[in-house]
Amino acid sequence: MLKMLKIQLTLFFVMITSSLVFSQERCGTMNRLNYEMTIDNQLNHKRQKIENKIKKWKNFNFQNSYDIPVVFHIIYEDNNENISLDQIQSQLNVLNEDFNRNNSDANQTPSEFIDFAADCNINFCLAQRTPNNDSTNGVTFTQTNIESFSIYDNRIFYDSLGGKDIWDPNKYLNIYVCDLSNALGFASFPGTSQSRDAVVINYNNFGTINILAPYNKGRTATHEVGHWLNLEHLWGPNNNPGNASSCSSDDYVDDTPRCIGMTSCNLTSNSCSNDAIDGYWTTDVVDNVENYMEYSNCEKMFTNGQKNRMRAALQSS
Ligand code: ZN
Ligand code: CA
Repeated sequence: MLKMLKIQLTLFFVMITSSLVFSQERCGTMNRLNYEMTIDNQLNHKRQKIENKIKKWKNFNFQNSYDIPVVFHIIYEDNNENISLDQIQSQLNVLNEDFNRNNSDANQTPSEFIDFAADCNINFCLAQRTPNNDSTNGVTFTQTNIESFSIYDNRIFYDSLGGKDIWDPNKYLNIYVCDLSNALGFASFPGTSQSRDAVVINYNNFGTINILAPYNKGRTATHEVGHWLNLEHLWGPNNNPGNASSCSSDDYVDDTPRCIGMTSCNLTSNSCSNDAIDGYWTTDVVDNVENYMEYSNCEKMFTNGQKNRMRAALQSS
C-alpha cells in the first residue's frame, strides 16, 4: 500500500516537473527551426549552401573585430513587459562582455578549457540610424493587445499584426523582447527568411536588473545570439539535452568535446568518450559544461572553434 502511494506520488511529481519543462523550454530554437522548415521549403537548401561556404573560412584565424548594430524591439502588453532603457543597456553590456571575453566570471573557467576559451572580438552597439536613415536610440516600443507569443507566432514580426516590422537583418541584429510563453528565447539560424531573421527573448529573463535567478545573468540572449551566428547546441541537433544518441551527432565545431548536454553545472561530467572523432582532441576529455551553448546555468565561455564558426557566418553573409 505504502509502496503504491510512493509510486503514485512519484508519478505525480514527474508529471508536474515535465509539465513545467514543457510549458517553458530553455531554448526554442530547434523547434522554431523545424517549424521554419515547414513554411520555407528552401531553408534546408540555403543552410546547406551556407555550410559549404563556411568550410572555406572555418580554420582561418580572422583578427578583425566586427561591430554589429542592434535594434531592440520591445513588444509589451502591460507595464511589466514595458522594460526600461537601463534594462536594455544591462543586456547589451552582457553581450559585449561575453563575446569579448570580458565577462566577470571568465577567471572561473576550469584549467582544461582556459586555453581554448575565445575572445570572439564581436561588438554590439545600439543602432544610431533607422532603415529610413532617421536618428534613433536603437530601441522601439510597441504596445500590443497580444497577451503572449509562442515560438511559432509570426505576428511579432509585423506592425499590422500586433508586433513590429523587422529592420533589414543584413544591417541589424533585431532582438525582440516580449512575453514569450513557451521558451526563454529563440533565434533564427542564418538562411532564415529575412522577414523573420531575428532573436526573440522573453521579457523576464532579459537583462540583469531585478531578474530572478538563475536566468538573471543575461545569458539567454548570449546563447540565442550564438544560434543567430550559426552555433548549434554542444550536443548537436537533438531538441533536448540528455540523449545518449547525441554522442554520434556533431555541432560542426571541432574543439567542443562530444557530449549529450547538461542541465546542471556538473563540472566532472564526461558523457561521451569519442571526443577524438572531430580531429581536435586525441584523448577522451570532460564535457565543456560551461559553454554558452549548454543549459548548465554556469555558462561562461565560447571556444575558439565556435568563434571561427560565428565569424565565418559573418564573413559569408
Ligand atoms: Zn539554444
Ligand atoms: Ca568526453
